[in-house]
Amino acid sequence: MTEFGKLIIISGPSGAGKSSVVKQLMDRSSLPLTLSVSATTRLPRPGEQHGREYWFLSRDEFENKRQAGEFLECKEVFGRGTWYGTLKETVSAGLNDGKWVILEIDVQGALSVLQDYSDAITIFVHPGSMQELERRLRDRGTESDDSLKRRLDVAADEMEMRHHYAHEIINVNLDNTVEQIDRLLQQYQGEKIPCSKS
Ligand code: 5GP
Repeated sequence: MTEFGKLIIISGPSGAGKSSVVKQLMDRSSLPLTLSVSATTRLPRPGEQHGREYWFLSRDEFENKRQAGEFLECKEVFGRGTWYGTLKETVSAGLNDGKWVILEIDVQGALSVLQDYSDAITIFVHPGSMQELERRLRDRGTESDDSLKRRLDVAADEMEMRHHYAHEIINVNLDNTVEQIDRLLQQYQGEKIPCSKS
């Protein structure tokens, strides 16, 4: 089946500001962007809504979907049974509709998706250093000490994997980061530059 849109993968350590970047990008870009809402077994944070940030599922609901082959990829991201997954149907529907579908997923998930969509545009967003990342995660105040430690351990591994991405953006100032990514994406209109490193 021909899919007419483009797939954009945005990764980066938890606390790098990806969600804010993606929200602003969707508001400000003239491109036909749409966010693929993932499923997760983690509990919603205050203010998060089912179907907006994530589809918040029970372990059983998630497992049923996994066994039914509904995920393009799914991963236990921080150990201890917290699962996240990209729904095949969401991605295909967006691409068939000519949309530029954004996946905000972890590095392992990104590598899986690249096996199916090797021309995806890959962007790694990070705060520059592990010290700065820890400061931002602590300031966010949403994680327990244990969860913070796990997120920092995973972040260190993810930073090591950033060479898999075609583009690396250091998020110092939200406005600049959004503008930089928008400009970068605009260059893919009409395929003026190749879509992936592969
Ligand atoms: P958070 O719990 O802070 O919303 O997200 C934690 C991590 O899970 C982030 O690094 C995010 O990119 C990743 N993530 C979110 N959705 C998915 C998904 O569908 N698949 C994978 N592999 N990772 C995801």
